[in-house]
Amino acid sequence: MRSTVSLTKAADYDRDTVYNAVKTLLETLGGIEKFVAPGQRVLLKPNLLGVFKPEMAATTHPAIVYAVAKQIQEAGATVLIGDSPGIGDFKTVLKITGMQAVIDELRLQAVDFTPRAEYHDEQNLIGKSIELAAIFKDVDVVITLPKLKTHAQMTFTGALKNQFGCVPGLDKAKYHYKLKTRDWLAELMVDINLIVKPSLAIMDAITGMEGPGPSGGDPRHIGVLIASADLAAVDIIACSIINLPPETVPVSAAAAHRGYGVADLSHIDIVGEVWQQFEIADYKKVEHLVNILKLMPLPKFLMDWMQRYWSPRPKIIADKCIKCMKCRDVCPTEPPSIDPTKNWNADAKTCIKCYCCHEFCPVKAIDLPPTLLERFSPEKIVPTMTGFYYSLINRFKRS
Ligand code: SF4
Ligand code: SF4
Repeated sequence: MRSTVSLTKAADYDRDTVYNAVKTLLETLGGIEKFVAPGQRVLLKPNLLGVFKPEMAATTHPAIVYAVAKQIQEAGATVLIGDSPGIGDFKTVLKITGMQAVIDELRLQAVDFTPRAEYHDEQNLIGKSIELAAIFKDVDVVITLPKLKTHAQMTFTGALKNQFGCVPGLDKAKYHYKLKTRDWLAELMVDINLIVKPSLAIMDAITGMEGPGPSGGDPRHIGVLIASADLAAVDIIACSIINLPPETVPVSAAAAHRGYGVADLSHIDIVGEVWQQFEIADYKKVEHLVNILKLMPLPKFLMDWMQRYWSPRPKIIADKCIKCMKCRDVCPTEPPSIDPTKNWNADAKTCIKCYCCHEFCPVKAIDLPPTLLERFSPEKIVPTMTGFYYSLINRFKRS
């Protein structure tokens, strides 16, 4: 099996630049008409994590949504746009992320993912029966518009993980609690993709997020748009650009062993620009010891145990905290493992290291300090080991 991934350069978010880049991107894949037909209802699923301005690089940029929506309309289809943000109500998120202006200008239909429906699929591993946003029963085509970002729990978030946003509201936190490990969560994310069936992914990698993403990291300019009908292949290319072995990304690993899309770089045909010209060797990844150990052939029960006990425990930075209580509200444990009215540290016994608190803190007031083991390691050993393993794997794959 082979897949085609298209890459197009885009220096910035200037609206004309992005419109033309999206046009080129789609033309190299056969044109927008290959994905949508006149009269169809097309749902765009950007990453609308929460109340973040576009320049914070936590959400898909509105210039991309504008360019994609306009070209779908020009093809004669109706465009809807939706997500289930973790922070803030849907209307506020649309306004702050710049989506409302696009919705108003192009007269799109905004869809809150709160109304839910049951979906069944016996082929699924975890979500044989799962509640997702009801809208998927009422559209013809789904196009996912992910943002390239690092992710404290899942290592990376891109095309495949973007569909976790189809789970309504705080149900996401319930799955974190129920499934406990990120590997099981990754299997659920593949299940959701099998149900939602996005027919195209267009990734916003003009400015990505590096460091402790998906909301607490820093913007990093990359300058490219990546698109394919194969979402797994989009993620493989994105990971290659930021020098992150996809094997360390749980959702890419889950997709690979389930045969969902292409997992091997050598089975991907690139059209447009070559990905190597966008490669950033020093892109800051999430450097936790458990991510490195994932590359070793350790038994799964040992990996799960290490993930639970060797992963950093969230700690509130007191002078940054605005006491909004979002971290306590999203924490899936009962009672919440984190509560700024009681303690700055997450509870050691109950915290499941899902990092929902870190993801949804609006002011980057939650730190993920190094574990005891990482602290007593010789200085810089974790980043050095990470870099060493990553370069070794990448060299092996390219040879
Ligand atoms: S740590 Fe963040 S999410 Fe929690 S109360 Fe403080 S500001 Fe709000
Ligand atoms: S304290 Fe944070 S990391 Fe721990 S269980 Fe609660 S939300 Fe998850």
